[in-house]
Amino acid sequence: MKRRLFTFAAAGSLLLCTAVLILWPVSLGRESFCEHTAFSSYGKDWYWVNWQIWSEDGFLRWASTWVEVNTPNFDSTWDEQPGQWTLKSQLLGTSGPQMGFPANLRPQWDTATGVFGPTRPDVIRSRYVGIIIPYWCLLAVSLPLPVVWIFRHRRQTHRRKRSLCLTCGYDLTGNVSGTCPECGTPVPKAPADKSPFGKQGGVT
Ligand SMILES: [Zn+2]
Repeated sequence: MKRRLFTFAAAGSLLLCTAVLILWPVSLGRESFCEHTAFSSYGKDWYWVNWQIWSEDGFLRWASTWVEVNTPNFDSTWDEQPGQWTLKSQLLGTSGPQMGFPANLRPQWDTATGVFGPTRPDVIRSRYVGIIIPYWCLLAVSLPLPVVWIFRHRRQTHRRKRSLCLTCGYDLTGNVSGTCPECGTPVPKAPADKSPFGKQGGVT
């Protein structure tokens, strides 16, 4: 169970790692953008929720805006309509000035309330959250697990081939008890059945 969980986590990590290795170089030349907007009523008020993910200039930026409003017509003035997905990829710098090196290597966190201020009387309250995660951070988080997995996998293959205990590496050649005398791990049937006959003859 523990091993399966580890394999699962390592696979997820590898997926993230691969995505980072593809998106990072692309982000140095292009800004890629995914946005979604939702609008729903709640009681007598309405909620406008917009989130965006940007990949640009060596980092990933996530931003979300929640707005509580008193009119269903609030979103009519916005480019993004409810339920709409926007996917865009354009040359770096198209949407505005870039953060640039070395600022783009620093994780950043940004939150604000009342982002629409007094300019919009139809807004009851609003909140904005923005996070910038440089790709090197994502790589640092996602790389270790697959590396450990590959190292472990190679060690297990090596131990299996040489009839060693998969847990502690103890030599199980000729083992008949069915458990490793060093750590008590059950010995898998297949290698234990094959190995004793050939080598036990020499021992006795
Ligand atoms: Zn053992």
